Amino acid sequence: MSLGNQPSAPLSTSPGVEGLSSETARELLASVGPNVLPAARKVPQWRRLLAELTHFFALMLWAAAALAYIGGMPQLCVAIIIVVIVNGVFAHIQQERAQHAAERLQNLLPADVTVRRDGSLHTIKASQLVPGDLVILAAGDRLPADIRLTSASGCSVDESMLTGESAAVPKDWNDPAWGGTFLVNGEAEGLVTATGSNTKLAAIAALTSGTTSPPTPLTMELRRIVRLIAFVALSVAGVFFVVSLLVGIVWRDSFLFAIGVAVALIPEGLLPTVTLSLAMGAQRMAERQALVRNLEAVETLGSTTFICTDKTGTLTQNRMNAVEVHTAEGLLGIQGDGYGPNARIEGQGRDAALTVALSARAASQGRAVQRAGEWTAVGDPMEAAIDALSRRLLGSEPGLEEPERRFAFDAFRRRESVLVGTTLHVKGAPESVLPLCSHGAHELADAVESMAARGLRVIAVARRQLPGKPADWVNLPVEEAERGLEAVGLIGLHDPPRQDVGDVIAAARGAGIRVAMMTGDHPSTAGAIAREIGLMGPDNLVVQGSDLPDDNQMLGALLDRDGVVVSRVSPEQKLRVAKALQARGHVVAMTGDGVNDGPALRQADIGVAMGLSGTDVAREAADLVLLDDHFATIVAAIEQGRATYSNIHRFLTYHLTDNVAELAPFVIWALSGGQFPLALGVLQILALDIGTDLLPALALGAEPPGKRVLQRPPEKRHLLDRRLMVRVFAVMGPTEALIAMAAFSTVLFGSGWARGEAWNPAVLMSASGAAFAAVVLGQLATAFACRSATAPPWKQGWFTNHLLLWAVVAELSALALFIFVPAVATILGQAPPPAVGWLVAFTAIPGVLAVDWLYKRLRRRNNARVEAAR
Ligand code: ADP
Ligand code: MG
Repeated sequence: MSLGNQPSAPLSTSPGVEGLSSETARELLASVGPNVLPAARKVPQWRRLLAELTHFFALMLWAAAALAYIGGMPQLCVAIIIVVIVNGVFAHIQQERAQHAAERLQNLLPADVTVRRDGSLHTIKASQLVPGDLVILAAGDRLPADIRLTSASGCSVDESMLTGESAAVPKDWNDPAWGGTFLVNGEAEGLVTATGSNTKLAAIAALTSGTTSPPTPLTMELRRIVRLIAFVALSVAGVFFVVSLLVGIVWRDSFLFAIGVAVALIPEGLLPTVTLSLAMGAQRMAERQALVRNLEAVETLGSTTFICTDKTGTLTQNRMNAVEVHTAEGLLGIQGDGYGPNARIEGQGRDAALTVALSARAASQGRAVQRAGEWTAVGDPMEAAIDALSRRLLGSEPGLEEPERRFAFDAFRRRESVLVGTTLHVKGAPESVLPLCSHGAHELADAVESMAARGLRVIAVARRQLPGKPADWVNLPVEEAERGLEAVGLIGLHDPPRQDVGDVIAAARGAGIRVAMMTGDHPSTAGAIAREIGLMGPDNLVVQGSDLPDDNQMLGALLDRDGVVVSRVSPEQKLRVAKALQARGHVVAMTGDGVNDGPALRQADIGVAMGLSGTDVAREAADLVLLDDHFATIVAAIEQGRATYSNIHRFLTYHLTDNVAELAPFVIWALSGGQFPLALGVLQILALDIGTDLLPALALGAEPPGKRVLQRPPEKRHLLDRRLMVRVFAVMGPTEALIAMAAFSTVLFGSGWARGEAWNPAVLMSASGAAFAAVVLGQLATAFACRSATAPPWKQGWFTNHLLLWAVVAELSALALFIFVPAVATILGQAPPPAVGWLVAFTAIPGVLAVDWLYKRLRRRNNARVEAAR
């Protein structure tokens, strides 16, 4: 990539360009309004609610209600209508909450711009921008509004979001550029021509706001599950219909019963519970400084098996300190605190070191500034450290001349050059700078290695004196400028590791996640840091980006191990690494901050961008934004992702378990050819599904991450996997069904009923009440059992999920209401059971817990055996 081959206006402020006065800006803002895109025309609330009442399942239910009415079962009709409405309102509330959560998260994304106002630079919120503002843009920035360029240096803009064209478009002085596009190369300053709803992007957004985004894999998986269950429900209903006809029930009653069975078995409340649980996961991640940009990323995060992470700022603090300068005159050590001007200096070559520092400073924009008595970095921390170094060596404030030209740093060049007067100052990675030198480089080569081996980031500094006047060189192409340099020295910078990063890497390992470092830094520096923080794996493998094998399979085989370091890596290589690891079955999380990291971030299953130091381009391409840039935040997000996925499993298990218990009475009734009375009626089943079950399911969806979430390997499994099926259909479901039937039979036979006799309706109602109570109590135990897939509830503590405790209170209150309030109980077709009925019903609690405990024990033993056999 070549820069500077286009003519460009000088970077320095043209005289008289002071920007707007803040006064004018404020007035303009009041008259044109804030610089925000008009909200997509929202579907009104009532239409969204209506949609929840008229989707496929809802329509089926409406039809069922109508049939029930025509068939002369008004109670069933009313019950079904209540089901539709309760479910619709419930789904609606969950969707709204999820929506609000997503909007709130979007608002946390940083959106600041630098403008020239009142003659100096200010950072303001992008929404405060007004036409006439002068904005300053660097590579990687998103254009905050439509602008006309007033100066441009090597600029190109990615306009794909407007035109679909992926190649970047070169832009020059006086060219227009559009809000929402990205500056991918160079630097620019521009005059804002239109903001907010007047921008080109707003016009396009208005056109496309009607289209909906395609469903995500999770949504599709859930739809698959719901369809499957619906299919099973309809088949069961069909069988039930035929059997009732065969045993001689009039066809209309059979039909209505069949409809009732189908209605009862369809889990309409499942999808909104999932959405809510994902939204809750996203919210918890945000509390840990991790922003997911779409809800499904919450689930993907949980299955991450490989993290490719940056070094600078992610594993280290990005608080640079220049501690050594190496010149022809020797090695100078500098010990100072932070970015302040005081330091202890010892060693040789102080004057030469000052020359190095000042040249490096001339080729930098980052500065150390004193704010409220504290020295802090503004801009690139490494450049601020160089500024501090100059101050320490000079003992006073260095002066600064305006540069004529800048050839900016990027991840390919790994260097930056600035023309000041007729002197070109160059600083950058030694391998990038030293080969351009015609003298002085050779002597420095050994020092590079020894400094890097101590974990220092090494920057080579060089310069070149051009003959003639500055004006002769203003249009000099970069290749022409950066050659025949004189190497003047090396600066060694120390960047301390983040404090807890070693523990976090160990935690990631414990969770079966592999961690690799992908850095633009020198191999020895990267290796030294990797060793220091305990990232380096047993193979001690440090590969340079340029040495990576060309064959993707070999690349995958080389890198698919724990603790690899890839140094001097380019964005393209990161993209290849992501693909190669994915080809080996990994779910890859990859960090990136640069302009060119977009493709790698998009390719990775989880693209991770930096909220503090990254570019807008990277954030736009990412699934996860780390507000604090910290590696630990990635692992925290993975932990939360796993927890959320487990929660979905939990309430799915819970919901399905009582379907088994609800179905059993019908099966027995049908198998007995209608001789054995129906233990639970359709209305009771509806009362279970939308009455007693709803809140415990929600509470399970809010389960906080367990202590051991990170102590097991990642698992990539379907929501409806074998383990879940076994637990539901072979363990807890049948137990609950058995006890419900036992409670029913005890009351029934206790009354002296024998097969073939007519049923006493009063006895039947109290027997049915016993069965109902047994299912509710069994579900209570199931809720606690579902909290863990491996441990019994008493190991977890009964009181650790407060929401669940409240849900259980609500569940028991509902049970009391359904059984003891005569009006309600009669409609449902039940009555309070006798003491013996209650007794059997209550055994559902220890019964379900005991069976679940036995199953968990067996499984654990089995797993241990499998483990031992390996
Ligand atoms: P990292 O993976 O550590 O973030 P970068 O891609 O930011 O690495 O930087 C790669 C290399 O480029 C650094 O090791 C350094 O030698 C050089 N470099 C980084 N920033 C600058 C800069 N502002 N000016 C000149 N060279 C730089
Ligand atoms: Mg970097």
